[in-house]
Amino acid sequence: APSNRQKTSSKSEKYQGEATMESTFIMIKPDGVQRGLIGEIISRFEKKGFYLKAMKFITVERSFAEKHYADLATKPFFGGLVEYIISGPVVAMVWEGKDVVATGRRIIGATRPWEASPGTIRGDFAVEVGRNVIHGSDAVESAQKEIALWFPEGVSEWKSQMHPWIYE
Ligand code: ADP
Repeated sequence: APSNRQKTSSKSEKYQGEATMESTFIMIKPDGVQRGLIGEIISRFEKKGFYLKAMKFITVERSFAEKHYADLATKPFFGGLVEYIISGPVVAMVWEGKDVVATGRRIIGATRPWEASPGTIRGDFAVEVGRNVIHGSDAVESAQKEIALWFPEGVSEWKSQMHPWIYE
């Protein structure tokens, strides 16, 4: 039956209107800021058709970085990762769009830049895993947690006038 088919629809079919709007947390890490990649990165998300809902330029404290990366606390690289994230200002953002969590991860590219395809942010701009320029939430649930952590004040409710030109 058509209704059953819809439930098991593939990702490409999902794009024909079925996917839901969601939000993801994106952070330009200190190396991305220092290297002047803020505009380039924002531009890629903007041109794709995602909406910027919140943005702040901040240097975070150690305890905050440890909280953001709490899931990685037992990893051997955790100390270095925290040092890296607190080493300078970052750009914290919330982006909204259909399937933006998974698609955002594809725009960003693989964690290890040598495995990231050319055309992705890490594939184009990074060499080392410990200097991989950008963070993006890996699931809708972690996105919600990260947005609440970084934007406790909430995010904008604005709707782009371009919406009907990008979404069916
Ligand atoms: P992602 O950022 O792609 O979601 P992870 O959540 O696995 O990847 O790791 C978080 C961050 O920790 C990575 O983006 C990277 O900056 C850093 N990292 C991951 N693995 C290593 C490693 N082996 N050595 C140094 N840093 C690492």
